[in-house]
Amino acid sequence: MNDKNNENQFVFSASEIRQAGTYSAELNILPSEFADAFPGRDVLKKLSASLEFNAAGDEILLNGKISASLALDCSRCGKSIIKSFSDVFDESFPYSVEYINVRENIRETVSLMEPMKVLCSEKCKGRCPHCGKDLNEGKCSCVQENFSPFAALKNFRPGKKMI
Ligand SMILES: [Zn+2]
Ligand SMILES: [Zn+2]
Repeated sequence: MNDKNNENQFVFSASEIRQAGTYSAELNILPSEFADAFPGRDVLKKLSASLEFNAAGDEILLNGKISASLALDCSRCGKSIIKSFSDVFDESFPYSVEYINVRENIRETVSLMEPMKVLCSEKCKGRCPHCGKDLNEGKCSCVQENFSPFAALKNFRPGKKMI
């Protein structure tokens, strides 16, 4: 595999699409090709795209579905986890274009996939704010000394942010 071939997998001949009317493509993409979706961070672990072009009327319509695995840190305990995401996009191109390059559509969709907050588990207990122990691995001694049972219980509630 060389760089040129990798780049070409995102470029489609519009005349082929116009002749066929509809045209589908499945792309398995090297994550390193879209490192620019997460500048300076090694987040993207897997990436694939499912594309469908429709030459209709005076436009070529593109429906794309992007699936990706991202390596993220749990917002509560900080553990590194791999999560799968997928999202769709639509784009239209003038009917008469020569080539359609979908790279920017894929990059933009991937770069918006990362959630504000991600949990290793809905039940993640986070870390003790005092000693930093991962409370999923067991209680630390300061939980028992400093917190009431009710305060500790609150941290079990899914969706409650705990740092
Ligand atoms: Zn966690
Ligand atoms: Zn502690």
